[in-house]
Amino acid sequence: MRVLLLILIIPVILLNCGSSRPAVDEGAGPIHAMPNDNQEKAAKNIILMIGDGMGLTQITAGIYDNNNFLNFEKFPVTGLMKTHSYDNLVTDSAAGGTAMACGVKTYNNGVGVNKDGIAVKSILEEAEEKGMGTGIVVTSAVVNATPATFMAHQKLRAFVEPIAEEIANSGVDFLVGGGKKYFDRRDSDERNLIEEMKAKGYQIENFIQHKTIEEVRTDSVKKFVYFTADDDPLTKITGRNYLPYASQMGANFLKSRSENGFFMMIEGSQIDLGGHATNFKYVMSELRDFDEAIKNVLEFAEADGETLVIVTADHETGGLTIQEGSKLKKIKADFAYGRHSGTMVPVFAYGPGSEKFTGIFDNTELYRKMKAALAL
Ligand code: MG
Ligand code: ZN
Repeated sequence: MRVLLLILIIPVILLNCGSSRPAVDEGAGPIHAMPNDNQEKAAKNIILMIGDGMGLTQITAGIYDNNNFLNFEKFPVTGLMKTHSYDNLVTDSAAGGTAMACGVKTYNNGVGVNKDGIAVKSILEEAEEKGMGTGIVVTSAVVNATPATFMAHQKLRAFVEPIAEEIANSGVDFLVGGGKKYFDRRDSDERNLIEEMKAKGYQIENFIQHKTIEEVRTDSVKKFVYFTADDDPLTKITGRNYLPYASQMGANFLKSRSENGFFMMIEGSQIDLGGHATNFKYVMSELRDFDEAIKNVLEFAEADGETLVIVTADHETGGLTIQEGSKLKKIKADFAYGRHSGTMVPVFAYGPGSEKFTGIFDNTELYRKMKAALAL
């Protein structure tokens, strides 16, 4: 009886094996991580890259959607980060940004303040005080929650004009993103913050004067701003094209001007918006753009040897899943809903101090780990 059963079953198994194909072609496998040589040194520079709304599934889908490769795979160190805010297991970008920028848990909507609404200094501000260069490159308006948490302190993220005022006084040395109108056509007052910043020595350009940032020359200036839009910049799909270039330009700009090192935050801001729209193509195009920026930043860091690069997210957006029937470059994706989710997010690190960014840790610890890496 048992023998008969085997005789019946074996052909079925063999038939199944014969009909199945590998999900991924041999040879199209992951690339090797970069060597991690400089672990014991302190970092001179930090480039923190935040994918807004970029959970592990967004990255996984991005890798398979790009024929099984993204630059994320080059990082020698990975970790996991808890993202809950002070008052909610599911954070927003304001509380998530504040945790990473200032090292404190705050309530959702709080920008650079603690749970009681009191301002807490950010790592960018501390770097500025120590005479380091500072930079912000984002694909949202620069007054948006994530960049704001590094340069401003407001009880609510909606206070965008006060945030613009704080940015104008922050001393930030290299700033690229949208939101020009919050500086020069304000509702709450008649001030022109762009003129005020120019008077303080800034070179300020925008998308109307120079269609692309590549056209701009910055040889003789110490502080530089390029506004990419009046409010939110375009999506990658509708023609936005500056993030990878501006990331590289920012690193070179700050390195050549700051003997004491620099801190720069780069945000792929719109991965989140794709998740809110439950639009998989939107998410993938934004993630791929962010990955191009990662490629440029890693090239810079590899040549520089003194730069710690960290890539992470503030939270996941959309509850994205990769469904059965998915194939390389043909992902069947679905979203649980167009809102943030509470899952942990991955952390990737390369360069001096990167070994600190492994294991499971809280988003407020990211701030302390960065400070320890810089020996601030
Ligand atoms: Mg953001
Ligand atoms: Zn969001």
